[in-house]
Amino acid sequence: MSITLNNVSYRYKKNISDTIKDISFNVENGEILTILGPNGSGKSTTIKCIIGALKYSGNIFINVENIDKLSRKERSKRICYLPQDTKELCDLSVFDVVLMGKLDSFRIAPSQEIINDVERIINEFHLSKLVNKKYSELSGGERRIVNIAQVLARGGDVLILDEPTANLDIANELEVLELIYSYTKKKKIATIMVLHAINMASRFSDSIVVIKDSKVLKYGTPDSVIGKQTILEAYDVVVDEYISSDGVKNIHLIESKKKKEYDF
Ligand code: ADP
Ligand code: MG
Repeated sequence: MSITLNNVSYRYKKNISDTIKDISFNVENGEILTILGPNGSGKSTTIKCIIGALKYSGNIFINVENIDKLSRKERSKRICYLPQDTKELCDLSVFDVVLMGKLDSFRIAPSQEIINDVERIINEFHLSKLVNKKYSELSGGERRIVNIAQVLARGGDVLILDEPTANLDIANELEVLELIYSYTKKKKIATIMVLHAINMASRFSDSIVVIKDSKVLKYGTPDSVIGKQTILEAYDVVVDEYISSDGVKNIHLIESKKKKEYDF
């Protein structure tokens, strides 16, 4: 499955100019594309166009098929989406929340096969200890992991994750990204995610899009996108760039060029 955006634009009614303008990129199956960019640049808006939540101009294709032609049901079956903010799910247990990812696959009660699959996912995400706990009683990071497990349990062809690693400690951040990476490669799905951690994006992406002020500032392989110049243009932040011991282009923050006027 591949996803292609051709000049996708959208404007919220309250905004005076386009919230996103002429966004174009392509993700092939087995690939991860990461969207980077400052807060408010249009990352979540771009994603909401792909999942069909907003009526955009331009074209979005899933393989060669225009995504507009898919019914709502078909689209939600093929595209699995993790929103940036997830709501509290009353008093459901962790097991039930992950099982909810499978709701499309059963009518009254889940089969043993579905239960086994949910158990496998729970083990893969190291959630066994939490399995009977209430979702509402988990920490922010634990909830995020449960949400990702639920999205993967759905098993579509396209995975869209808006800030999947928000609230995660460094060990969980690494583990979740490794899981998403190997899942994408193994199942040959197309994955689009939004991250803020630039070094993680550099390590786990096949391509990166940087959105700044509603438009694509840079698009290409991590090696061609990540660097001093892009980070300065995107964030007004001066960085050093270096190659880490695993051969990945990394950045190290030096200083923000944004005007600082502290009065305290
Ligand atoms: P981010 O890159 O941080 O994900 P968003 O895509 O959420 O940014 O938002 C892009 C811009 O659109 C921001 O200026 C934001 O304030 C604005 N915006 C987001 N949602 C709405 C909305 N529902 N109505 C009006 N403006 C919105
Ligand atoms: Mg966002």
